[in-house]
Amino acid sequence: METQETQSTSSGQEKIKIGWFSFSCCEDSTVIMTEIMNEHWQDWKKMFDFRHARVLKSNNILDELDIAFIEGAIAGPDQEEKVKEIRSKTKKLVAIGACACIGLPAGQRNTFTEAQKAEIQFLIDRFGALPSVLKLSDVVTVDAQVPGCPMNPDAFLKAVDGLVKELRPKS
Ligand code: SF4
Repeated sequence: METQETQSTSSGQEKIKIGWFSFSCCEDSTVIMTEIMNEHWQDWKKMFDFRHARVLKSNNILDELDIAFIEGAIAGPDQEEKVKEIRSKTKKLVAIGACACIGLPAGQRNTFTEAQKAEIQFLIDRFGALPSVLKLSDVVTVDAQVPGCPMNPDAFLKAVDGLVKELRPKS
C-alpha cells in the first residue's frame, strides 16, 4: 500500500486528512469547492491535509482520511466497491450535492418508463452499469449531507465547520 507522511499544524496537532471524490456526475460541486478556496485556502492549508483530491494535485493517496467528501451518484459496481473502500478508510463521509444525496439528476434513468428503459438497456449492458442508479446512502453510511445542484456553498462551509469542531474540539 502507498503511504504518505502525515502533516501537522504549527501547534504540532495532526492536520485533518481530507479526500474529495467524484462519481457519476457533472463535477460542478468540485468547481464550487475550488471557488470557495479563493477565500479559504490560506486557512485551510494550515489545518487540512488534502490527501486525495484530483482537482488539486496529481499525487493522490487513499490510505486513511478524517473526512471524505463525495459528489455524484453510484451507477456501476466498480463505483459501489470504491465507495465502500473510501468508507472503510474515513472517519466521516459527506454526501456533496443532489446526485450524491438523492441520486438525481445523475440517476434520471431510474425514472424512465419501461419502454425507455428497454431502449437504453444495450448501454447498461455495454458499460456493465447497475440496474438502477444509487444515492450514496444506498451503499454506505453517510454522516452529513450538503444538498443543492450544485452544492450550496453556505451549507458546505457549515458542514466543514461542524466536522472540524467534532474532529478537533480543542483547536
Ligand atoms: S448535483 Fe447537480 S451539480 Fe452536482 S453533480 Fe449532480 S448534476 Fe452536477
